Amino acid sequence: MTSQNKKFVELSDILALRLECKRGKCRTSITIPFAQNLMGKEVRTCPSCGEPWAQFGEASYETVVTDFADKLRRFREAQFGCSVTLEIDDKNQQLAKEDNNG
Ligand SMILES: [Zn+2]
Repeated sequence: MTSQNKKFVELSDILALRLECKRGKCRTSITIPFAQNLMGKEVRTCPSCGEPWAQFGEASYETVVTDFADKLRRFREAQFGCSVTLEIDDKNQQLAKEDNNG
């Protein structure tokens, strides 16, 4: 028998955007609360080592970040006639079960 657990997150549980540098051993991370007004430039480069995070020459993902924050805010403010949650991957819990079984 296989059982499946599903995990859901309330929109109000989504608090902040976290970015962590992938360059070498830098691993500097920043957490930007969605309550804060995101400008996009906060995610441009690593504040510690300068590694590009969202700005690559002419290409930039800064507006992707600000658009997401804006959409999330509007999503939360919307008066849905139902409960709205996000389903998230439950891989870690699945792996833990497999470890226990095998
Ligand atoms: Zn860095």
